[in-house]
Amino acid sequence: MESLQTFAYIGASVLFIIGLQMLGRAETAKRGNRVSALGMLVALVATLYFEAGLDFTWILVGLVVGAAIGAVAARRVQMTGMPEMVALLNGSGGLASLLVGWAEYARADRIAPFPAFAIVLTVLIGGLAATGSIVAFLKLSGRMDGKPIQFAGQKTVNGAILAIGLLAGAVLVVDAILAAGLPGGVVIVAFAVVLAVALVLGVMAVLPIGGADMPIVVSLLNSYSGIAAAAAGFVIDNNVLVVAGSLVGASGLILTNIMCKAMNRSLANVLFGGFGATVTAGSAAVQGEVKPLTPDDAYYILEAASSVVVVPGYGMAVAQAQHAVKELADQLTKAGAEVRYAIHPVAGRMPGHMNVLLAEANVPYEQLVEPDDVNPTMEMVDVAIVIGANDVVNPAAKEDESSPLYGMPIIEVDRARTCFVLKRSMNPGFSGVDNSLFLKDNTRMIFGDAKATLTAMVAAFKEV
Ligand code: NDP
Repeated sequence: MESLQTFAYIGASVLFIIGLQMLGRAETAKRGNRVSALGMLVALVATLYFEAGLDFTWILVGLVVGAAIGAVAARRVQMTGMPEMVALLNGSGGLASLLVGWAEYARADRIAPFPAFAIVLTVLIGGLAATGSIVAFLKLSGRMDGKPIQFAGQKTVNGAILAIGLLAGAVLVVDAILAAGLPGGVVIVAFAVVLAVALVLGVMAVLPIGGADMPIVVSLLNSYSGIAAAAAGFVIDNNVLVVAGSLVGASGLILTNIMCKAMNRSLANVLFGGFGATVTAGSAAVQGEVKPLTPDDAYYILEAASSVVVVPGYGMAVAQAQHAVKELADQLTKAGAEVRYAIHPVAGRMPGHMNVLLAEANVPYEQLVEPDDVNPTMEMVDVAIVIGANDVVNPAAKEDESSPLYGMPIIEVDRARTCFVLKRSMNPGFSGVDNSLFLKDNTRMIFGDAKATLTAMVAAFKEV
């Protein structure tokens, strides 16, 4: 029996690793997701059957109920709401680990030092991930103001709270080391303090971070929930939980690092910089003249273009314009133009946001290019079409040292021969920083919902 369980756990771990590797490429990502989900199914069934002794009827009931909730949630969530959903899922993972640690502590009469240490970690990190994710969810969904909430001495207060939590955790480990243990009252208070610190720290850590940085925070909290799960795996001596938790912990950290690099910011700057608190005060005034254009007039420029670069952003997701973009690209290709899609790593509200939407519209992967590949060729581009992207094309990142965006790598559409910007107004992007691109000589603003504008452009091509 035990060897069958070990075999199932090894199989599940292998499926997780293969699945993760497949997630790294757009072509195999969907299958990778299914492979990882199969791994999770194997791990869950093996644990419930061999460890908890549940019979298959109850396992099946659980599967059906869980799958139904998951299917409804996945179908109902909009692509733009995905980071919020991920935040909630992270929070649930953190809470589950916390409850495992708590239950094990409450259950055991005496506990060995290492499990006691693992329980402290599980509760501290799990609790932090749970409440931190809830605040991230509230900020992302607009139920709470996205502005950073900061006060004097905040870091000191947070540091002191953490120190109290670690001290209380140390008391629990000492209790486990001492043969006679510490008095029961002391231990109960210490555990309550660890629990309270974990929950409070999650809130306190996320409050000073602005809404624009929430996707990075969600990725970091995802990593924390993985670490909490791995620690919970040590608590209940479950190898597959240690493996799965470690994979989540490591991949979350890697993703966090990739996002920070794409914004040219350090993790410390994201966590403590309060980005968004003083945005407009810091940046230089943007000057110039707005030059609006109609979709019909845009047609005459597009029809003569031989090289076009499409730069999608969050607004394309909001407008659900991905199919219209593909239709326009088809018309341009028919007219003899080469069309490429330049994807910024943080365009949209989560990593891969644009890739997923364009894949949905059957845009060929080979037409997607990275900023580093397209920027050196930008002078040769006849038209850059910016669709609901804003911060990721803001020249302030190169030109204005006082701008909070300064140093962020951008897609340099301002160097294209002509640049069309499709958006509804002159409003700034997610960071709140005004965009000087809109006033450049070679920029034409095409105001309106991106899908309506693109559909009108396609119609102009078809009319001819
Ligand atoms: P932005 O959020 O900067 O701008 C989106 C633009 O879309 C807005 O200016 C808005 O202008 C426009 N828009 C909204 N709805 C529509 C519509 N229906 N039709 C046309 N336009 C529309 O987008 P970017 O993608 O350029 O930048 C992403 C931002 O998110 C960056 O600040 C990035 O740092 C941040 N971020 C992203 C992460 C990620 O993983 N992707 C992670 C962390 C942060 P208007 O209202 O005038 O229409």
